[in-house]
Amino acid sequence: MEQFKLKFIGGAGTVTGSKILLQYDNKNILIDCGLFQGLKELRKLNWESLPIDAAKIDAVLLTHGHLDHCGYLPVLVKNGFKGKIYATSPTIALSQIILLDSGKIQEEDANRANSYGFTRHDKALPLYTQANALAVSAHFSSHQYDEWVHLFPEIKFAFHNAGHIVGSAIVEVKIKDKTILFSGDLGRKDPLLLYPAFKKIQPNYLVVESTYGDRIHAEVDVKSQLEQVIKKSIEKSATVLIPAFAVERTQEIIYLLYKLKQENRLGNIPIYLDSPMATKVSEVYHDHLELTDLTKEDRKNMFKDVHFVEDYKASEALVNDKRPKIVIAGSGMLEGGRMLNYLKNHLKNEETTLLFCGYQATGTRGRAILEGTHAVKIHGEYYDIKCNIESITNMSSHADQSEILNWMSNFTNTLETVFLNHGEPHQSQALRVAINTKFDIMPIVPFINESFKLKAD
Ligand SMILES: [Zn+2]
Repeated sequence: MEQFKLKFIGGAGTVTGSKILLQYDNKNILIDCGLFQGLKELRKLNWESLPIDAAKIDAVLLTHGHLDHCGYLPVLVKNGFKGKIYATSPTIALSQIILLDSGKIQEEDANRANSYGFTRHDKALPLYTQANALAVSAHFSSHQYDEWVHLFPEIKFAFHNAGHIVGSAIVEVKIKDKTILFSGDLGRKDPLLLYPAFKKIQPNYLVVESTYGDRIHAEVDVKSQLEQVIKKSIEKSATVLIPAFAVERTQEIIYLLYKLKQENRLGNIPIYLDSPMATKVSEVYHDHLELTDLTKEDRKNMFKDVHFVEDYKASEALVNDKRPKIVIAGSGMLEGGRMLNYLKNHLKNEETTLLFCGYQATGTRGRAILEGTHAVKIHGEYYDIKCNIESITNMSSHADQSEILNWMSNFTNTLETVFLNHGEPHQSQALRVAINTKFDIMPIVPFINESFKLKAD
């Protein structure tokens, strides 16, 4: 009997830092290579060395271009990784944008720490630089959905659509007689822009994410909610500010606004996207519209009414512009980005609406505003909040508990072992109980760095 090994070296007990090491026949394959984010204790893990030498990793299979799945690649390459990074073409394009931005932020953070002297070390160093991020590009190898790639003797894999963000994939790996399925991040049952996740598969082993393993998303008509908020604002000839994540959420909002305009439900209020990064990401969507579940007409027209604000001067002018408009800008949780300049000017205006369309993590400026704080500090100064705060809470790109169960019900007959990763402990445990109740399978919730030997034949 032959065996292979799975080791969970990130994304275990937490929703960031996704990394799973698959070892078989002296080959080391990493599924995702994500950055730990959020709390300091987690971020510190990015500075610890991996339990395996980067030079000994033979290949990386990348599920999608979010930072918590691809953000550690520059460190891997810096530390001597020589292999290929396999991904879909949009995942490669998104990763390049996101890694470069991440390198820039790391450099800026290190420079700031050094100039203020708030580092206990002699000199703060970035985890990686923009140059390190650029060096990742030479390793990418692009593959289509459902294309089988023969990696090594008796190891092959295919990416299939995950319905989470453009290009996102679940990975089906075949080792000898066994099939292992890695969900990466799994999309909703009916994603706004994308096709639902692939399900014609018969895995023996499943590693599935559990970000919303404890939750059922409410059924909400997001488009009508958006319409109501914006209409109220139009009546007051005011501005609507939408802080949004550059990937998927921005394009979803652009699509919903386009549909509302097409249905004559919005008038001609101008729409601005003031985020160089979201603009680049939107170009990736535009280049891969064949992967979206949209009509030909929608694909052609969804971006046509959007004014893309590139130049910083144009952005400054728009910040001071008093005319009614919709501005979409980053960052999604108001931790940085050009949206902060709008807030400095608009928080005091009772007419302006600040509309949240995404999750606001504890400790962020976005969360504080959403919870009703009366003032926020931006660039060292306090600003009173008098504007109207609204929120659409149901926009998520992750499957909830019932959607994960429904997806799994397509292949439970072949399953031998299920692992739940990419979740806080309470999220994974809730999903574990639900899977056990519905399918009579008791999933394993691995600890960080825990490894498992599994049969390959
Ligand atoms: Zn993701």
